[in-house]
Amino acid sequence: MKAIGIDIGGTSIKGVVIDQSGRIAGETKQATDAAKGKDCILANVKDVIRQLLEQHPDSEGIGIGTAGRVNASTGEIVYATDNLPGWQGSNLKEEIESVFHRRVSVDNDANTALIGECWLGAGAGCSDVTMLTLGTGVGGANRIGGKIVRGAQWNGGEWGHVILVPNGRPCNCGQRGCIEQYISGTAFVQAAAEAASIHFPSGVEVLEAYEKGNPAVAAVLNEFIDDLTVVIHNIHLGINPQAILIGGGMVDSKSIWWGLLEERVKRQGLHISFRAAELGNQAGSIGAARMVWDARL
Ligand SMILES: [Zn+2]
Repeated sequence: MKAIGIDIGGTSIKGVVIDQSGRIAGETKQATDAAKGKDCILANVKDVIRQLLEQHPDSEGIGIGTAGRVNASTGEIVYATDNLPGWQGSNLKEEIESVFHRRVSVDNDANTALIGECWLGAGAGCSDVTMLTLGTGVGGANRIGGKIVRGAQWNGGEWGHVILVPNGRPCNCGQRGCIEQYISGTAFVQAAAEAASIHFPSGVEVLEAYEKGNPAVAAVLNEFIDDLTVVIHNIHLGINPQAILIGGGMVDSKSIWWGLLEERVKRQGLHISFRAAELGNQAGSIGAARMVWDARL
Protein backbone atom coordinates (compact mmCIF):
# COMPACT_ATOMS: atom_id res chain seq x y z
CA MET A 1 0.00 0.00 0.00
CA LYS A 2 1.15 3.54 -0.74
CA ALA A 3 0.42 6.93 0.77
CA ILE A 4 1.07 10.49 -0.31
CA GLY A 5 2.86 12.86 2.06
CA ILE A 6 2.88 16.63 1.54
CA ASP A 7 5.01 19.19 3.35
CA ILE A 8 3.88 22.81 2.96
CA GLY A 9 6.55 25.35 3.86
CA GLY A 10 6.90 29.08 3.32
CA THR A 11 8.98 28.63 0.15
CA SER A 12 8.24 25.18 -1.27
CA ILE A 13 5.69 22.38 -1.25
CA LYS A 14 7.27 18.93 -1.22
CA GLY A 15 5.41 15.73 -1.99
CA VAL A 16 6.36 12.04 -1.75
CA VAL A 17 4.68 8.73 -2.45
CA ILE A 18 5.89 6.07 -0.06
CA ASP A 19 4.95 2.48 0.70
CA GLN A 20 4.51 0.91 4.13
CA SER A 21 8.04 -0.45 4.14
CA GLY A 22 9.37 3.11 3.80
CA ARG A 23 10.38 2.89 0.14
CA ILE A 24 9.91 6.17 -1.72
CA ALA A 25 8.11 5.49 -5.00
CA GLY A 26 7.89 9.05 -6.27
CA GLU A 27 8.47 12.65 -5.32
CA THR A 28 7.95 16.17 -6.56
CA LYS A 29 8.40 19.75 -5.44
CA GLN A 30 6.85 23.08 -6.33
CA ALA A 31 7.15 26.70 -5.19
CA THR A 32 4.57 27.68 -2.55
CA ASP A 33 4.09 31.19 -4.00
CA ALA A 34 2.99 32.11 -0.50
CA ALA A 35 2.89 35.87 -1.17
CA LYS A 36 0.00 35.33 -3.62
CA GLY A 37 -2.23 34.16 -0.78
CA LYS A 38 -4.34 31.23 0.27
CA ASP A 39 -6.03 30.39 -3.03
CA CYS A 40 -2.72 30.23 -4.85
CA ILE A 41 -1.05 28.14 -2.11
CA LEU A 42 -3.99 25.74 -2.17
CA ALA A 43 -3.88 25.48 -5.98
CA ASN A 44 -0.18 24.62 -5.78
CA VAL A 45 -0.81 21.97 -3.11
CA LYS A 46 -3.49 20.41 -5.33
CA ASP A 47 -1.09 20.48 -8.29
CA VAL A 48 1.52 18.53 -6.34
CA ILE A 49 -1.06 15.97 -5.19
CA ARG A 50 -2.48 15.63 -8.71
CA GLN A 51 0.98 14.94 -10.17
CA LEU A 52 1.69 12.25 -7.59
CA LEU A 53 -1.76 10.65 -7.97
CA GLU A 54 -1.39 10.46 -11.74
CA GLN A 55 1.79 8.42 -11.30
CA HIS A 56 0.50 6.43 -8.31
CA PRO A 57 -3.29 6.16 -8.52
CA ASP A 58 -3.19 3.32 -5.98
CA SER A 59 -2.21 5.75 -3.17
CA GLU A 60 -4.79 5.19 -0.47
CA GLY A 61 -4.62 8.45 1.44
CA ILE A 62 -2.96 11.82 1.80
CA GLY A 63 -1.11 13.19 4.82
CA ILE A 64 -0.22 16.87 5.01
CA GLY A 65 2.19 18.73 7.24
CA THR A 66 1.93 22.49 7.13
CA ALA A 67 3.49 25.48 8.83
CA GLY A 68 1.07 26.94 11.37
CA ARG A 69 -0.92 25.59 14.26
CA VAL A 70 -3.23 22.79 13.17
CA ASN A 71 -6.29 21.18 14.75
CA ALA A 72 -5.27 17.65 13.82
CA SER A 73 -8.79 16.33 14.54
CA THR A 74 -10.63 18.60 12.11
CA GLY A 75 -7.81 19.63 9.76
CA GLU A 76 -8.37 23.33 10.42
CA ILE A 77 -5.47 25.79 10.46
CA VAL A 78 -6.01 27.39 13.85
CA TYR A 79 -3.18 29.91 13.55
CA ALA A 80 -0.72 30.88 10.84
CA THR A 81 1.70 33.78 10.52
CA ASP A 82 1.90 36.04 7.49
CA ASN A 83 4.42 33.60 5.99
CA LEU A 84 1.26 31.92 4.62
CA PRO A 85 -1.21 34.80 4.07
CA GLY A 86 -4.85 33.84 4.57
CA TRP A 87 -3.94 30.32 5.68
CA GLN A 88 -5.41 30.79 9.17
CA GLY A 89 -9.02 29.59 9.37
CA SER A 90 -8.88 27.40 6.28
CA ASN A 91 -9.80 23.73 6.57
CA LEU A 92 -7.21 21.84 4.62
CA LYS A 93 -8.70 18.41 5.28
CA GLU A 94 -12.08 19.39 3.82
CA GLU A 95 -10.54 21.27 0.89
CA ILE A 96 -8.37 18.33 -0.19
CA GLU A 97 -10.84 15.53 0.57
CA SER A 98 -13.53 17.20 -1.51
CA VAL A 99 -11.27 17.22 -4.58
CA PHE A 100 -9.39 13.93 -4.34
CA HIS A 101 -11.91 11.70 -2.48
CA ARG A 102 -9.28 10.09 -0.30
CA ARG A 103 -8.78 10.19 3.45
CA VAL A 104 -6.72 13.23 4.44
CA SER A 105 -4.81 13.83 7.70
CA VAL A 106 -3.33 17.23 8.51
CA ASP A 107 -0.85 18.25 11.18
CA ASN A 108 1.78 20.86 11.96
CA ASP A 109 4.98 20.38 9.93
CA ALA A 110 7.22 20.01 12.98
CA ASN A 111 4.99 17.19 14.22
CA THR A 112 5.11 15.42 10.86
CA ALA A 113 8.91 15.82 10.76
CA LEU A 114 9.15 14.11 14.14
CA ILE A 115 6.79 11.34 13.00
CA GLY A 116 9.05 10.83 9.96
CA GLU A 117 12.24 10.70 12.04
CA CYS A 118 10.64 8.27 14.49
CA TRP A 119 9.64 6.02 11.59
CA LEU A 120 12.69 6.00 9.33
CA GLY A 121 15.27 8.33 10.87
CA ALA A 122 17.17 9.21 14.03
CA GLY A 123 14.22 8.56 16.38
CA ALA A 124 13.49 5.03 15.17
CA GLY A 125 12.88 2.69 18.08
CA CYS A 126 12.27 5.52 20.59
CA SER A 127 8.85 6.23 22.08
CA ASP A 128 9.85 9.48 23.84
CA VAL A 129 11.52 11.99 21.55
CA THR A 130 11.68 15.77 21.23
CA MET A 131 12.71 17.38 17.97
CA LEU A 132 13.98 20.87 17.22
CA THR A 133 14.44 22.10 13.67
CA LEU A 134 16.86 24.99 13.32
CA GLY A 135 16.03 26.59 9.99
CA THR A 136 14.30 29.81 8.94
CA GLY A 137 12.59 29.57 12.33
CA VAL A 138 12.76 26.98 15.09
CA GLY A 139 10.24 24.17 14.88
CA GLY A 140 9.54 21.89 17.80
CA ALA A 141 7.61 18.73 18.56
CA ASN A 142 7.30 16.25 21.41
CA ARG A 143 6.42 12.58 21.28
CA ILE A 144 5.70 10.86 24.57
CA GLY A 145 4.69 7.22 24.92
CA GLY A 146 4.67 6.88 21.14
CA LYS A 147 2.20 9.74 20.63
CA ILE A 148 2.71 13.31 19.51
CA VAL A 149 1.73 15.74 22.28
CA ARG A 150 -0.35 18.33 20.46
CA GLY A 151 -1.79 20.12 23.48
CA ALA A 152 -5.15 21.62 24.36
CA GLN A 153 -4.77 24.53 21.91
CA TRP A 154 -2.66 22.64 19.38
CA ASN A 155 0.55 24.49 20.28
CA GLY A 156 2.22 21.74 22.28
CA GLY A 157 5.88 21.47 21.36
CA GLU A 158 6.27 25.02 20.06
CA TRP A 159 9.76 25.33 21.45
CA GLY A 160 10.61 28.09 18.99
CA HIS A 161 8.40 30.52 20.89
CA VAL A 162 9.36 29.48 24.40
CA ILE A 163 11.11 32.52 25.87
CA LEU A 164 14.86 32.22 26.34
CA VAL A 165 15.71 35.86 27.10
CA PRO A 166 13.17 38.03 29.02
CA ASN A 167 12.64 41.30 27.13
CA GLY A 168 15.01 40.04 24.44
CA ARG A 169 14.85 40.32 20.67
CA PRO A 170 11.34 40.96 19.24
CA CYS A 171 9.68 37.98 17.58
CA ASN A 172 7.04 37.84 14.84
CA CYS A 173 4.71 36.08 17.32
CA GLY A 174 4.40 39.35 19.30
CA GLN A 175 6.61 38.31 22.24
CA ARG A 176 10.24 39.13 22.93
CA GLY A 177 13.20 36.84 23.50
CA CYS A 178 11.81 33.68 21.88
CA ILE A 179 14.20 30.77 21.28
CA GLU A 180 13.65 31.25 17.53
CA GLN A 181 15.34 34.66 17.72
CA TYR A 182 18.57 33.09 19.02
CA ILE A 183 19.13 29.63 17.54
CA SER A 184 17.34 29.63 14.17
CA GLY A 185 19.53 29.68 11.08
CA THR A 186 18.12 33.12 10.31
CA ALA A 187 19.02 34.49 13.75
CA PHE A 188 22.50 32.98 13.52
CA VAL A 189 23.23 34.60 10.16
CA GLN A 190 21.84 37.94 11.32
CA ALA A 191 23.84 37.95 14.55
CA ALA A 192 27.03 37.08 12.64
CA ALA A 193 26.40 39.81 10.07
CA GLU A 194 25.92 42.40 12.81
CA ALA A 195 28.95 41.28 14.81
CA ALA A 196 31.33 41.04 11.85
CA SER A 197 29.83 43.87 9.74
CA ILE A 198 29.80 41.52 6.76
CA HIS A 199 26.84 40.64 4.55
CA PHE A 200 26.43 36.85 4.64
CA PRO A 201 24.02 35.39 2.06
CA SER A 202 23.52 32.27 4.21
CA GLY A 203 24.86 30.24 7.11
CA VAL A 204 27.35 28.51 4.81
CA GLU A 205 29.31 31.74 4.36
CA VAL A 206 29.13 32.46 8.09
CA LEU A 207 30.68 29.11 8.90
CA GLU A 208 33.32 29.62 6.20
CA ALA A 209 34.26 32.85 7.96
CA TYR A 210 34.41 30.94 11.25
CA GLU A 211 36.76 28.36 9.75
CA LYS A 212 38.98 31.15 8.46
CA GLY A 213 39.27 32.40 12.03
CA ASN A 214 37.03 35.48 12.06
CA PRO A 215 36.91 36.28 15.82
CA ALA A 216 33.56 38.13 15.72
CA VAL A 217 31.93 35.17 14.00
CA ALA A 218 33.56 32.75 16.45
CA ALA A 219 32.01 34.71 19.33
CA VAL A 220 28.58 34.47 17.68
CA LEU A 221 28.96 30.73 17.12
CA ASN A 222 29.92 30.34 20.78
CA GLU A 223 26.78 32.20 21.83
CA PHE A 224 24.73 29.99 19.52
CA ILE A 225 26.22 26.90 21.18
CA ASP A 226 25.57 28.39 24.66
CA ASP A 227 21.94 29.09 23.81
CA LEU A 228 21.38 25.70 22.19
CA THR A 229 22.88 24.00 25.25
CA VAL A 230 20.46 25.87 27.54
CA VAL A 231 17.52 24.91 25.34
CA ILE A 232 18.34 21.20 25.20
CA HIS A 233 19.12 21.20 28.92
CA ASN A 234 15.67 22.63 29.64
CA ILE A 235 14.02 20.07 27.37
CA HIS A 236 16.03 17.29 29.01
CA LEU A 237 14.80 18.35 32.46
CA GLY A 238 11.26 19.21 31.43
CA ILE A 239 10.48 16.10 29.44
CA ASN A 240 13.48 13.80 29.76
CA PRO A 241 13.01 12.18 26.36
CA GLN A 242 15.13 9.22 25.24
CA ALA A 243 16.57 11.50 22.56
CA ILE A 244 16.46 15.14 21.50
CA LEU A 245 16.75 15.32 17.72
CA ILE A 246 18.22 18.43 16.14
CA GLY A 247 17.32 18.99 12.51
CA GLY A 248 16.80 21.82 10.03
CA GLY A 249 19.19 23.65 7.73
CA MET A 250 21.77 24.33 10.47
CA VAL A 251 22.43 20.60 10.70
CA ASP A 252 23.65 20.48 7.08
CA SER A 253 26.86 22.08 8.36
CA LYS A 254 27.05 20.14 11.59
CA SER A 255 30.54 18.87 10.81
CA ILE A 256 31.73 22.38 11.70
CA TRP A 257 29.85 23.01 14.96
CA TRP A 258 28.47 19.74 16.36
CA GLY A 259 31.74 18.97 18.17
CA LEU A 260 31.49 22.31 20.00
CA LEU A 261 28.02 21.40 21.25
CA GLU A 262 29.16 17.97 22.47
CA GLU A 263 32.12 19.58 24.22
CA ARG A 264 29.94 22.23 25.89
CA VAL A 265 27.40 19.71 27.15
CA LYS A 266 30.19 17.51 28.51
CA ARG A 267 32.05 20.43 30.11
CA GLN A 268 28.89 21.46 31.97
CA GLY A 269 28.49 17.91 33.28
CA LEU A 270 25.13 17.47 31.57
CA HIS A 271 23.89 14.03 30.59
CA ILE A 272 21.64 14.91 27.69
CA SER A 273 20.89 12.42 24.95
CA PHE A 274 20.84 14.41 21.70
CA ARG A 275 21.58 13.55 18.11
CA ALA A 276 21.27 14.96 14.62
CA ALA A 277 18.12 14.26 12.60
CA GLU A 278 18.72 12.04 9.59
CA LEU A 279 15.99 12.63 7.01
CA GLY A 280 16.86 16.22 6.15
CA ASN A 281 14.10 18.18 4.44
CA GLN A 282 12.22 14.98 3.60
CA ALA A 283 11.28 14.27 7.23
CA GLY A 284 8.08 16.31 7.04
CA SER A 285 6.65 14.75 3.90
CA ILE A 286 7.63 11.21 4.97
CA GLY A 287 6.00 11.70 8.37
CA ALA A 288 2.90 13.20 6.75
CA ALA A 289 2.51 10.07 4.61
CA ARG A 290 2.92 7.88 7.67
CA MET A 291 -0.14 9.53 9.27
CA VAL A 292 -2.31 7.96 6.59
CA TRP A 293 -1.80 4.54 8.20
CA ASP A 294 -2.02 5.64 11.78
CA ALA A 295 -3.93 8.83 12.40
CA ARG A 296 -3.34 8.45 16.14
CA LEU A 297 0.45 8.81 15.93
ZN1 LIG B 1 8.07 34.05 19.17
